[in-house]
Amino acid sequence: MRTEAPVAVQLSDYSPYPFEIEQVDLRFDLHPDATLVRADLKIRRTGDANAPLELDGEALNLKSITIDGKSVPDDAVELTSSGLTLANVPDDFTLVTEVEIAPSQNTALSGLYMSGGRFCTQCEAIGFRRITFYPDRPDVMSRFTVRMTADKETYPILLANGTPGEAGNVDDGRHFAVWDDPHKKPAYLFALCAGDYDVYRDQFTTMSGKTIDLAIHVDKGDADRAAWAMDSLKRSMKWDEETYGREYDLGVFNIVAVRDFNFGAMENKGLNIFNSAYVLADEDTATDADFEAIESIVAHEYFHNWTGNRITCRDWFQLCLKEGLTVFRDQNFSADMRSRPVQRIKDVIRLRARQFAEDAGPLAHSVRPEAYGAIDNLYTATVYEKGAEIIGMLRRMLGEETYRKGMDLYFDRHDGQAVTIEDFYACFEEVSEQDFSQFALWYSQAGTPEITMEETWDPETREIAVTLKQKTPATPGQPVKKPLLIPMEMALIDDEGNMAEWITLLEDEELTMTFDLPEGSERPLVSINRDFTAPVRIKRDLSRDDQLAMIRLETDPFNQWDSVQSLVKEEILALSEGSQTEPDDALVEAVAVAIQGAVDDPAFAALLTRLPDVGEMFLERQPADPVALNTARKKLQAALFGKLSGFADDILAKSSPEPYDPGAEQAGERALRTALINLLAASGREEAGERLLGLYEAAPNMTEKLAALRGLAGLDGKARDTALTDFEQDWKSNPLVMDKWFGVQAGTGDAETISKLVAHPDFDLRNPNRVRSVAAAFAMQNLSAFHAPDGAGYKVVEDIILKADKVNPALGARLLTAFEQWRILEPKAKAEAEACLRRLQAADLSKNSADIVSRALG
Ligand SMILES: [Zn+2]
Repeated sequence: MRTEAPVAVQLSDYSPYPFEIEQVDLRFDLHPDATLVRADLKIRRTGDANAPLELDGEALNLKSITIDGKSVPDDAVELTSSGLTLANVPDDFTLVTEVEIAPSQNTALSGLYMSGGRFCTQCEAIGFRRITFYPDRPDVMSRFTVRMTADKETYPILLANGTPGEAGNVDDGRHFAVWDDPHKKPAYLFALCAGDYDVYRDQFTTMSGKTIDLAIHVDKGDADRAAWAMDSLKRSMKWDEETYGREYDLGVFNIVAVRDFNFGAMENKGLNIFNSAYVLADEDTATDADFEAIESIVAHEYFHNWTGNRITCRDWFQLCLKEGLTVFRDQNFSADMRSRPVQRIKDVIRLRARQFAEDAGPLAHSVRPEAYGAIDNLYTATVYEKGAEIIGMLRRMLGEETYRKGMDLYFDRHDGQAVTIEDFYACFEEVSEQDFSQFALWYSQAGTPEITMEETWDPETREIAVTLKQKTPATPGQPVKKPLLIPMEMALIDDEGNMAEWITLLEDEELTMTFDLPEGSERPLVSINRDFTAPVRIKRDLSRDDQLAMIRLETDPFNQWDSVQSLVKEEILALSEGSQTEPDDALVEAVAVAIQGAVDDPAFAALLTRLPDVGEMFLERQPADPVALNTARKKLQAALFGKLSGFADDILAKSSPEPYDPGAEQAGERALRTALINLLAASGREEAGERLLGLYEAAPNMTEKLAALRGLAGLDGKARDTALTDFEQDWKSNPLVMDKWFGVQAGTGDAETISKLVAHPDFDLRNPNRVRSVAAAFAMQNLSAFHAPDGAGYKVVEDIILKADKVNPALGARLLTAFEQWRILEPKAKAEAEACLRRLQAADLSKNSADIVSRALG
């Protein structure tokens, strides 16, 4: 039993490593059950003359250790479960260690492990210490060479970072390959893959005329399904040249798709390793959302080559330096590939659903925290998504040109270094001659700021006064907050469009702006936080008439969409609290008119049909009642479908665009079709089941098929069972498609559904995609069932977590974050959630999971 909280690592404890590792030569003799790893480290003392040599190491079986060829006596080596220490070492020496590891036994998917009978690695954040003894911290950067030996027939392809060198046969049917990475890198970017793959190849010519060999390695028979990922890679390479002037720096770029993977993908230098879900796609097996995710994740990992790899983080507290910046870069890439307003809305939906929730609960932490218990738990929406929003604000304040100058200086000054947020901002201070010390509070203060807006209008003098007040709520460990520097794009709007537009910089707690309008002016609408300039929550009292006028007159697409969101949020609250029994007809009509008016931009129209998720509603009023919110949301969806049924009939009667193209234009048309299918499923109409089954059977692509299946999965009756059985028959041999089959049921069913899915022979605790398709789809997207007042939803997820945590601690901890909002729930669910967390606290959990439970209980 483990009840104590893990010991925290503190940012203030940072000190540089007292040695430099000038060269790392690794030799792997690969065998699934017993791989021998020899590491030759060329080490030079750079710090304190008395400092001992400390190396990290976990689950390693040390076979031998020598210094400059002489074996080190046993009593000179202090070996613990977390590493080894050598007290007296020379100032300049070569250390050679040999260790044995067992990749086939490694279910944590950190370090060197087997997936689908092939070798692969995952070293971020601290997996390299499970491969060999090494200073496993990002500020130790070194040059690596790798020599691998493996059975030639089973593992014909041997890959590592950098560029390939010598290769050939050795005895006993084995062969070897040498890879050399000319760029210095931290150990977390190390990678190795060995196995039998099909390879999809292409080339890219860089802006200086160099030809790069590109290759994507996938399961046998899957090569054609890597075409979209390859296309996305080439577009990413071109975009980074055109937008940031960054060119690729090796002759080869390899991607390997892996079925068992804890994350989306990993940016290892020259050898990106991907969860196969984010590589493989074709119209029959992948949805438009999958294609979009592949495009953005391929870009994200590629962009890391400069923001993360060439310039890395000094320590893990600076994680946002590489992640926030790189998310910002991939979001802008996606906006350029598709529609900028639609991309912005999708980014904000994700931010509000995940990051705002995190910021409002017991797991709230700043973008650059001061301490952490388990490093794996720092890979959060706050570090990634809020980190990206901060860069977005920086760029808006500086303007495009100065922002680019600052980035150029950053790349120029810090290439090959491991740096901090302060180093990054020093570049922007230099090019702009501005002071960013108040703005830097965005990195140290947790919590989502609230902006209250008040306006007064004097019809006599035609003066409009707008007052903004900011307040950041208290978060764990941070009871008092300082005012932030908040940029905000604003406008005054009348029937003709924008009368004025500007950027406000809110520095103090309160700011009042007044405007004198010309003779004859009517009261204008005030448009605030346009394009979601700042990641804040806006509070303003607008009359229903003004809200409806906003929907008609807003000139900013984000705010037009958000005006609809604000209206429907209020309506869902009123319905869920019983102050209203039926949706207001005028409101539903206005939303329906807005949707039909946007039909020329179907992707935008689809977003207008979307009602806020139950989880987003938790932040609006507390205590939150997920069951009542879900019922109210469905009622409003049904009313909206009632208004749109003629329109929906017309759209759904048209045949889907052919031949299939995953690009923005066709995807937009399909987005509207699937949005209407969702509304039909929620309509409560008797004929819905049969109609959905008809749409399911006629669907020419996975996007529409899955939308119909999801709709059916939420209904009762024969049509549902027919479709689910049919889908399983068609796809039982394709694990990625079967993840969707598990996911739609977990996303719509109750605790009993989950028990059945867990008992299915294809449920596999060792495969994170499969576990997430059941447990995360249920606990993070199906909130009325997960938070059921009888606690059944918690119990079934608790059982999965207890088992998953034993196999794969990072996965167990990730699932536990579903409990983060327990304190704001209605009393019955709250009591059940707390009881569940207490049981988990008393269980024997991994360090990662114990960290989440202790913080959640606070
Ligand atoms: Zn990343």
